[in-house]
Amino acid sequence: MSELSRRELLAFGWFPLLAPRHIHLAGARFRILRTGRSCRRYLRIHGDEETARLVLERHMQTHDGVAYIVESRTRAVPVEGLKLDPNRMFSRVGAEANLQRLNRDAAPAQIARALAVLDRGREKLVRALTPPRGGLTIALHNNARGYSVEEEVGISDRVSLRQPLEPHAFFLCTEPRDYELLKTSPYNVVLQQKTPPSDDGSLSRLAAARGWRYVNLEVLIGEPERQREMLNWLEWHVPE
Ligand SMILES: [Zn+2]
Repeated sequence: MSELSRRELLAFGWFPLLAPRHIHLAGARFRILRTGRSCRRYLRIHGDEETARLVLERHMQTHDGVAYIVESRTRAVPVEGLKLDPNRMFSRVGAEANLQRLNRDAAPAQIARALAVLDRGREKLVRALTPPRGGLTIALHNNARGYSVEEEVGISDRVSLRQPLEPHAFFLCTEPRDYELLKTSPYNVVLQQKTPPSDDGSLSRLAAARGWRYVNLEVLIGEPERQREMLNWLEWHVPE
């Protein structure tokens, strides 16, 4: 443990109110909710996924862990005057591809400045989102009708589709043992453990590459009951 985190642990262990309330990377600013002591970490990273925010905020009223909730209201966040999908900022190559896609007219120098800002700050945010040893990070997402588990099937290591008529609701995990548990649920689940040739800069790819436990919980926007039900199933059956 580094001297700084040791000091933080000592200080915040006794005075949790002094722990930081926010963390940011470029224009992605996250509010931090802490309750109790737990190895669970939670994330809501897309500002337009309102269902995920509601479900996670309510969940934290009855569960221990640390939750990071993006404060943006839009999906993209600003970085050096450009737009960026925050779930593409976890690798330089993924961020660069996304910056070019969302900012067709940007000059190469402007893209380079944005990438430099991300490179300087990335590791601090990644450390916060990494669960303690053996712990689990759970990211809540919502999709519209366009995206579904069908897009993940071809690039996954293992797939269990118990709800083929609900392709928009699924778990995506990085740890085989979590997959084995999640596939006993009544829900869809895919395992993505190996890093594919193209790194898209998402947090799930970073978690898989670094070997930590991560679960994405995707549910159609506007279906909080379904997201709550699946999150509760995970809490009950997947060990901390
Ligand atoms: Zn999302």
